Amino acid sequence: MQHGLAGGPVANGGDHGALDVRVQVEDRWNHSVRAVTPLPHGTARLHHHDHTTEDFDLVIGADGAWSRVRPALSHGQPCYAGVTMVEAHFDDVDHRHPGIAHLVGRGTMSAKAGGRSLVMQRNSNGHLRVYVTFRGPQDWHAGLDLADTEAVRARLLTRYQGWHESLLDVLRDSEGGFINRPMFVLPVPHSWQRVPGITLLGDAAHLMPPVGVGANLALLDGADLARAVIEQPIPDEALDAYESVMLPRALDHAKTAQQMLATLMPDSDSDTDDAAFPDALWPAVALPDSSATHTS
Ligand SMILES: Cc1cc2nc3c(=O)[nH]c(=O)nc-3n(C[C@H](O)[C@H](O)[C@H](O)COP(=O)(O)OP(=O)(O)OC[C@H]3O[C@@H](n4cnc5c(N)ncnc54)[C@H](O)[C@@H]3O)c2cc1C
Repeated sequence: MQHGLAGGPVANGGDHGALDVRVQVEDRWNHSVRAVTPLPHGTARLHHHDHTTEDFDLVIGADGAWSRVRPALSHGQPCYAGVTMVEAHFDDVDHRHPGIAHLVGRGTMSAKAGGRSLVMQRNSNGHLRVYVTFRGPQDWHAGLDLADTEAVRARLLTRYQGWHESLLDVLRDSEGGFINRPMFVLPVPHSWQRVPGITLLGDAAHLMPPVGVGANLALLDGADLARAVIEQPIPDEALDAYESVMLPRALDHAKTAQQMLATLMPDSDSDTDDAAFPDALWPAVALPDSSATHTS
């Protein structure tokens, strides 16, 4: 069976039997995919950017938000969610910015008011990542050069006027440039009629607000698809089995993510809302008992 994985290496060649699927993998990196077209007899043609083509029994679009495989299955297009995240950084935070290190502690902190928040996340080696997140137009930076760090800083400080000085220091003192990340999402629901030989996983299938599940879902999709391909040697049956699990699961999570975004980033600019992280929307699951490993 020949599988093409858009978003990772192209896997090519191999053979399979009813109970023994073996794919002889030949990794080919940097083969950017331009499009995929279905062929008669349930196979699919991969069109590379270098204008070469290859035919596969199964093409898996794992190529993220701006998937080139998705148009073979659906007309769904990502659209701006009305919220932008601007990423900022600190290095060696404990020594160079002890006040900010104290704010974030050993994990994550967030401060929010109305449609504005600051989320800080401690990474390894004293690195700190900040998401300056606000509701606003996609062109919030109109008239600015996004590479002009000081001009972006000044615009952000204006947006966060009135916030506590210790939080404004996060905007004042960040190191390096700012990265503009407008949030794009696929429509909810996003689905498609089965197309033989082609499927999607991860953000390509269900791009949703980044509220903490996207990478997990992509991994889960991959595991479910792998199991379906092993258990159902006929690609079409494998895709039926996979999509019948993946699509409803994605819909549930996309609805929840949409609701969380609306709750966390309300469409008003009131500074007095006290919306906490909506645990009721995303109930915490019981964690395995860790007492065996934590004895003190
Ligand atoms: C700011 C932010 C914070 C986030 N935080 C979290 C979090 O805490 N937890 C969580 O679970 N999720 C989080 N997410 C979401 C998570 O990053 C995504 O859901 C996840 O990366 C999706 O994985 P994916 O493999 O589907 O797509 P991607 O990670 O986007 O991978 C797609 C791959 O396809 C390749 N590709 C793209 N186009 C082509 C092409 N034409 N040809 C060939 N290859 C191509 C790309 O180079 C890339 O390697 C966050 C997202 C953002 C933006």
